[in-house]
Amino acid sequence: MPLTRPDRERIEMLVAALETEYGPATDSARVEIVRAPGRVNLIGDHTDYNEGFVLPAAIELDTWIAFRRREDGLVRVASRHSREPGSFWIDDLTAEHEAGGDTRQPRENDGGAAAGAAATATVRRSSHWSDYVAGAAWSLREAALPVRGFDGVVDSTIPIGSGLSSSAALEVASALALLGAGRVLAAPSLAALAQRAEVDYVGVNCGIMDQFASAAGREGRALLLDCRSLDTRYVALPFGVRVVVCDTGARRELRSSVYNTRRAECARAVALLAERMPGLCSLRDLDAAWLARHRALLPDNVARRAEHVVSENARVVTTASALETGDLDELGRLFAESHVSLRDLYEVSSPALDTMVEVARAIPGVVAARMTGAGFGGCTVNLVLADAVPALKAAVSREYDRRTGLRGRVYPVAIVDGAGPLAMI
Ligand code: ADP
Ligand code: MG
Repeated sequence: MPLTRPDRERIEMLVAALETEYGPATDSARVEIVRAPGRVNLIGDHTDYNEGFVLPAAIELDTWIAFRRREDGLVRVASRHSREPGSFWIDDLTAEHEAGGDTRQPRENDGGAAAGAAATATVRRSSHWSDYVAGAAWSLREAALPVRGFDGVVDSTIPIGSGLSSSAALEVASALALLGAGRVLAAPSLAALAQRAEVDYVGVNCGIMDQFASAAGREGRALLLDCRSLDTRYVALPFGVRVVVCDTGARRELRSSVYNTRRAECARAVALLAERMPGLCSLRDLDAAWLARHRALLPDNVARRAEHVVSENARVVTTASALETGDLDELGRLFAESHVSLRDLYEVSSPALDTMVEVARAIPGVVAARMTGAGFGGCTVNLVLADAVPALKAAVSREYDRRTGLRGRVYPVAIVDGAGPLAMI
């Protein structure tokens, strides 16, 4: 990837931060830089953990780690987004479920909470942002890959906690840094290892989509991913159409508890429906007509969750075709249906997301708009004719902010390649 002038400035800033944090480099220590992008999901929400289809794209907002290798197995990391640096010994890492409790040593920045947790056995790990880095190290080590320590500085342009997968970008970039920038791992393996870091080490029960998009994205293309087989198809966007992310600025307080409830409801639907379809192991294997015939077997809320998943899977596949044929009307219809389904059947939208979608849809040249990601705040995704982007920006700062009292942000995003080494200095 050719480096632009802003890229070079960002590298200089990171190298300077590395020196401030850990002192000047010795003669032999080179600075390596890796990057991993965030992602936006064009369509297919809450389908990944149901072994269904998703259509994300890696975006230009990304996370970089500049690092100098260490030979003693220690990792020290600082982030421009946190005043609390983290550190851990790779050999000491244990996932919570292995240890039956948190075995980390107390650190300055958690006030010794970790040691207290260890003393009382299965208390949940107290969280620190560097757990995502430690999780990547743990996951690579579990896979018997050679992991090396480093002193590193993290910088991200992804708004953190907005649904654009800053966590996946941090895990994927960390995995690359731990392997060393010279070592290449196939994107699907990198994604699976990063996902394991988040699920088994950090303790967030996520699907594979975020890490896969960050690892395997391709410039200018969305990625149709079958979350069961991990088969992929790259899909170009129609000429002149831009992807624009609108961040609602709303907090996502309910998110993780509702996310876990929804996963449980999907599992319940599968268990109940398996009585009529022996061997059924995921909603992915149902079609809408069969589900409609057997709907009475399910409590109403569980049936609605299943209806969302089944219809959303079909919409993802149709959207990929509509992108390829450039059918803008069809794209608008599919995004609208997806939003309504997430709002009314899956019940994960919010007034802020609904308002953001409404404001965008009123702008001529906005082809399609819907909420994206897990829901309850976070972002919407929009397909917008290039010359309508300024009008969308203006409408968000005028209309959306006035109607919600929040501060919306608009990010027109280029679609970029997945993660990789960036430079060695
Ligand atoms: P999202 O992935 O949608 O941005 P998550 O809640 O999954 O939101 O992940 C956000 C968390 O990831 C943050 O709270 C923080 O712990 C960690 N994180 C991600 N990027 C960074 C970063 N650049 N610096 C420090 N922490 C980060
Ligand atoms: Mg995340």
